[in-house]
Amino acid sequence: MGYHQDLWREAVAFHGHECPGLAIGFRAALAALEKLGVSRAKDEELVAIVETDACGVDAIQVIAGCTIGKGNLIYKNHGKQAFTVGNRKTGKAVRIYVDPSKLKVDSEDRKARMEMILNAPEEDFCKIQFVELSFPEEARIFQSVICESCGERLSEARAKLEGGKTLCRACYKPYHRGW
Ligand SMILES: [Zn+2]
Ligand SMILES: [Zn+2]
Repeated sequence: MGYHQDLWREAVAFHGHECPGLAIGFRAALAALEKLGVSRAKDEELVAIVETDACGVDAIQVIAGCTIGKGNLIYKNHGKQAFTVGNRKTGKAVRIYVDPSKLKVDSEDRKARMEMILNAPEEDFCKIQFVELSFPEEARIFQSVICESCGERLSEARAKLEGGKTLCRACYKPYHRGW
């Protein structure tokens, strides 16, 4: 991995521990940045769509700079080790699907698996494809409203109406017709 050692340390510091899952996201993030010819996003110039909520997502946040807080990380609950990164400026996007079971590891040792994922040639276990991406709208600032039940302030975009009252999602009781 050589010169990526510092980046790996940053990812581990953010995630809290080193693990094979983090290594998967790390390799995907590096591959995506390299294919797009870009570096970590300062603002919202890059967008990431992650198809898993596993450890690897943390590496995407650190290495690609796509985070929940900036609104340029989108989570799709597909349960796949797949990560798409798109560049708003060029419209290019690349999807990386990672399958570490393709790597032959002799031992069941987690550390050995992690090292293997960090060091194996990407063509051995990653499927890398340029894809069409309809970029999500950039993060907007919404008006805020007060929930008439709990009194807490929330973004207007997430408010619900029930019997003419403005409610937050926690206080809203959806109406069921029983089917
Ligand atoms: Zn982990
Ligand atoms: Zn409420």
